[in-house]
Amino acid sequence: MYNGNIILLGAPGSGKGTLGKQLAEKYGYTLISTGDILREEKKSGSDIGKKINDILGKGNLVPDEIVNQIVENKLKNFEGQFILDGFPRTVPQAQFLDTISDIGLVIFLDVSDNTIRERILERGKTSGREDDQNVDIINRRIIQYKTETQPLVEFYKFKKILSQIDGENSIQEVFNLVQNIIKLWN
Ligand code: ADP
Repeated sequence: MYNGNIILLGAPGSGKGTLGKQLAEKYGYTLISTGDILREEKKSGSDIGKKINDILGKGNLVPDEIVNQIVENKLKNFEGQFILDGFPRTVPQAQFLDTISDIGLVIFLDVSDNTIRERILERGKTSGREDDQNVDIINRRIIQYKTETQPLVEFYKFKKILSQIDGENSIQEVFNLVQNIIKLWN
């Protein structure tokens, strides 16, 4: 059974957050969501929070230096195993992560663009997130995902730690598939 650190990789709306919560609860992982941390910072109204607010409102990615710093602070003095949801999202972020931690499993949730759009708009009805309610922002996030984040699939395939899951499956099916991977991964 695998019991090391895990990265959840996938487009916005691919189900990383949902899966992360299930895995954290079942196996006792600490879940670290950069999106949640950035939204908290935004709420705080700090200078950096204002900058983040502008970036999220456009559907862009927050600069690597800012997100790297956030993750480094979280992992500093951290004991135990963690799941990263939403980090890394760029190759430089992945390279930075390599210098501060050990990752043995990357779960890639593969979903179609249409599913992404449908799920995000559906989530936007209840999440209160502006970036989930505006089609232009959603499209921008999908473009950012394809250009900046998707290269990480090859990055982690090359390291032989990528496990690809069909994210079109139901929540329960995805969770079952991932539990099997964790059981058999070494
Ligand atoms: P989603 O997965 O639906 O895009 P998240 O909550 O993970 O939602 O992220 C929301 C936004 O926060 C992203 O669109 C992006 O602007 C920013 N963000 C989160 N993680 C990162 C990251 N690692 N690098 C840059 N920006 C990030």
